[in-house]
Order: sequence, then C-alpha cells, then structure tokens
Amino acid sequence: MNKNNKKIIIIGGGIAGLSTGCYAQMNGFDAIIFEMHNKPGGLCTSWNRKGFTFDYCIHNLAGTGNLKLAKMWQELDAFNNEDIIQHDVFVRVEDEKGQKLNIYTDIQKLKKHLKTISPEDEDVIDDYLNAGQSLVRADFFSMGMNGISSKLRIIPQAYQIIKWSNINLEEYAQRFKNDFLKKAFPHVQYNMDGSGIPLFPHLLFMAGFEAGDLGWPKYGSLQFSKRIENRFKKLGGELRYNSLVSKIILNDNRAVGVILKDGTEHYADIVISAGDGYNTIYNLLEGKFTSDFIDSYYQSYDESQEFGLQVFMGLNRDLKGEPHAIALLINQDLEIEGMKRDSLYVEIFDSTTGLSSEGKSVIKVVMRGNYNYWKKLKTDKDSYQQEKDMVYHKVINLLENRFPGIKEDVEIYDVTTPLTVERYTHNFHGWQVWSPPHGMMKIMFQGLSKTLPGLQNFYMVGQWAEAMIGIPTAALSGRNLIKTLCKKDGKKFRTQEK
Ligand SMILES: Cc1cc2nc3c(=O)[nH]c(=O)nc-3n(C[C@H](O)[C@H](O)[C@H](O)COP(=O)(O)OP(=O)(O)OC[C@H]3O[C@@H](n4cnc5c(N)ncnc54)[C@H](O)[C@@H]3O)c2cc1C
Repeated sequence: MNKNNKKIIIIGGGIAGLSTGCYAQMNGFDAIIFEMHNKPGGLCTSWNRKGFTFDYCIHNLAGTGNLKLAKMWQELDAFNNEDIIQHDVFVRVEDEKGQKLNIYTDIQKLKKHLKTISPEDEDVIDDYLNAGQSLVRADFFSMGMNGISSKLRIIPQAYQIIKWSNINLEEYAQRFKNDFLKKAFPHVQYNMDGSGIPLFPHLLFMAGFEAGDLGWPKYGSLQFSKRIENRFKKLGGELRYNSLVSKIILNDNRAVGVILKDGTEHYADIVISAGDGYNTIYNLLEGKFTSDFIDSYYQSYDESQEFGLQVFMGLNRDLKGEPHAIALLINQDLEIEGMKRDSLYVEIFDSTTGLSSEGKSVIKVVMRGNYNYWKKLKTDKDSYQQEKDMVYHKVINLLENRFPGIKEDVEIYDVTTPLTVERYTHNFHGWQVWSPPHGMMKIMFQGLSKTLPGLQNFYMVGQWAEAMIGIPTAALSGRNLIKTLCKKDGKKFRTQEK
C-alpha cells in the first residue's frame, strides 16, 4: 500500500466488484471490497451438496475463444484455456414422440441438420443461419472492450439488428412449413418464452458459437469467480467478507465512505457500488440522487423472470453421451407456481465437467420463477419448503419418461427460488437486471446509472449500472470505469501489474 495512492471502496464482490478491484490495483489505486456474503461471485456461484457441485449460473461464457473479449479474461486470469468445454450442441429440443432438433454450434452442421429434418424449408433455414454467419466478424460480445470505437463498429450491422430484433422466435417458427420445426424452434434459446425473445440475441449466440467463443469453464461458476478473487488478492487488494454495507457516507454531495452493518465506518477517495441498483440508489443513498429515467426503470419490473426457479439433482448415474442441454416438450399437465408449463429446460453435467465424480452426474432444470408466489409462501416456513419439494417431485416424475428409473438414482436435490437469490445477493426480488421499457439506445451508449445525478466521487458498475445482463458485461463495466478514472487522473490505463 502506498500512502499516495487513491483509496477506493467497492460495495460487493460479484464479478463486477472483483473486476473493478483487479483493474484498480493494476492502476495504482488501493481497493477494498466489502462483500456481505462469505464467498465471491454474487450470482456467478455454485455450492456443494454430498459430493456434487450445483452450478447456479454459467450456461455460456463469451470470450472463451480468440475474439477480443478473451484478452480481458486473460488479464483477470479467469480460467485456463484447457478447462474450457466447447459443446457440439447448444441445445436439443425433443418432443414427446422422440423427434429431435439439435442446435449445433457449428452453423454449417446445423444448416445440414435442419435441411434433413425439413428440405422444404431451405429458404427459411438459409435466411436465419446466413444472418448468424454474417454476424461472426462483428464480434458483438466484445462491444464494450474499446469504448465508443467498438460500439461504432456495429453500426454497419444496423440493418441486421433492426431486421432480426423485429421478429421473435415464435413468429419466425411460423415461417417453417415443417410442423416439428414450428413447434420446436421457439425453445432454442434456453427455452425462454419464445414469444418474448427476438431472434437477434439468438443469432448473436449462433455467431458466438461459430467463432468458438461461447464455451463453459470446467468446475463451474464459483471456481471461475474464485480465480478472479485470487487475482485481486495477488494484486494486493483487500476483500472483507460478511461485511454488509448499510449506508454510504456523504459530505456535501460527495461520497466519502460507507457504514457497515456492524456500525464501523470506512472512508475512501472514491466509492463504487457493484451491488444491487435498487438498494444502492433508494436505500444506501436514500433516493437522494436519481432521475426520472432511473425511477421509471425501477418501476418497470415484471413479477416473474426467466431462470427464477431452478431444480438441482445429484445422480448416481453416468449421463455421458447425453447433450449438455435438452428442452423437453411435454404433453402432460404440468403446473408449477399455478402456471401451466409446456416444456422443461434440462442441463446435464456429467463427470467431465468437474461437477460430479466419475459415474455420477448433475441435472439442473431451469424455469421462469415468480417472486410474489414464493414471497407469500415464505410467511410460513413449512409451506415454503413443502412447495419446493412439490416442484422437485413434479419435475422428477416428468423426467422419468425421458430417463427411466432416474428417481431411484437421485442422491440429493435442491430447489432455488427468487427468494434464495434475494437472500444471498440482496438483488431486487432476486432478479437479474431486466430490459428497459424504453431508451435502449441511451442504455447501450451510457448505461443506466454509471454515475448518479448530483453525486460526486461515486460510481456504479455491473449489471445495474449497465442495465445489461452478462458476466462479460459485469467485468467490462469495472474495467471501463477504472480506465475512465485513469484518464481523469492523466494516467495511462494498465491491464497488468507493474
Ligand atoms: C441463473 C443465471 C444464469 C446466468 N447465466 C449466465 C451465463 O450463462 N452467461 C453470462 O454471461 N451471464 C449469465 N448470467 C448473468 C450474470 O450472472 C450476471 O449478469 C452477472 O454475474 C452480474 O454480476 P454483478 O457483479 O453485476 O452482480 P451480482 O452478481 O449480483 O453481484 C453483486 C454482489 O454484491 C454483493 N452485495 C450486494 N449488496 C451489498 C451490500 N449492501 N454490501 C455488501 N455486499 C453487497 C452481493 O452479495 C453480490 O456478491 C446469469 C444470471 C443468472 C441469475
């Protein structure tokens, strides 16, 4: 520690907080992270149960190939390249009759497969996949790497963005003549509600896969977070766990420090919040520094969110040879949270993923979850637990059709709800950031709340600052802030230690 270095307090040790801390240390700031939990990563986490690792977060990580973003992961020492698993199939959609649509991560292979299923749909298939191919070079996932210049690089793609953002998966599926493709196609993007998902993000994924850039880091999300935590500590940063920030200390509209739940006060030259946006703006800062744009964003949330409900199972069964993800279309009645479900999204982690021992596997089933539904149940601890058990039983009964005898192989299960996430991260309703109702262009170029009106020496990073989802977005947010602070101080931005 050098007494001439500026001191930075970072609230939250998720990916954004950790990344901010690493780049701060590389650039001659002294960073201290206060994290309320007892481990790093925030949403990017996993936990152990009876010898299995249940991985909450990463499905696909941008920047695992040779495109620009990979440089940031190297700077943060986030993974070893040899630990990246590149899946051959992004997702397989299967119907009750056993018909299968494999979304191969190789565009030519996928084209061939689709045309074998439905030769009469050649034009629709070419239209969709040629668009995916044409986006490869634009490298959208690295958009935040070089500030404004890399954002400008996407301008030539404006036509593609508009064309494919104006049609959703459900609508595009109707262009297929083949009945199975009509039914299966809306489920190809993590089985999210096809009528709400524009085709454009799916095309970005296809382009990312084609570039070999959307892999999965072996051992899962917590291991990934711990590598960045380790990097931060090696760079000399200080990380304090079990340290909930309950207030930001102000002096004449300048942030000068924080008060922890234990009452201790900590002072710094700069305060950065990498924690939940709602809590930061309306509680830690008591809503004194906001704007109509920010307020309207926080009023625009939905009561349910994709990935809100997850069922994990540790199995005494080897599932090698199964695709990594299956969207199972079901024709039985399935009602969860009082809502009819027509499909289940199942992710499979065999022992090669490092999440289970040889001969065993983990299954994760991911669904949309409703905050209020679980909040009401939580008033009675037993009802809450009983409902979680009920969800598990409904899911495993359905999986029996696809994996006969699987019930007997379950050694342990766990169910997470939005309340689990709220408890562990204090994120608003246990949600990730959601798409803004308006002002998308403004968000793309300025973010939502990287600074707050009228407040000096204070910044926000991460999903809530950017109003964009994604581990790379969170990490880049921290990298870009430190770059800005260096510029302000007339320093050259460094991406490694001195
Ligand atoms: C189920 C799921 C799957 C996902 N899958 C992917 C994927 O496949 N690929 C991808 O790129 N992205 C994925 N994401 C998105 C990605 O995980 C997030 O966008 C990213 O991790 C957000 O990081 P963050 O640091 O901004 O926020 P968070 O992860 O929310 O971190 C905030 C941290 O701040 C701490 N904190 C909050 N308040 C306080 C306080 N007052 N005092 C102290 N500490 C505090 C919290 O404990 C937490 O550690 C997924 C998200 C979810 C929920």
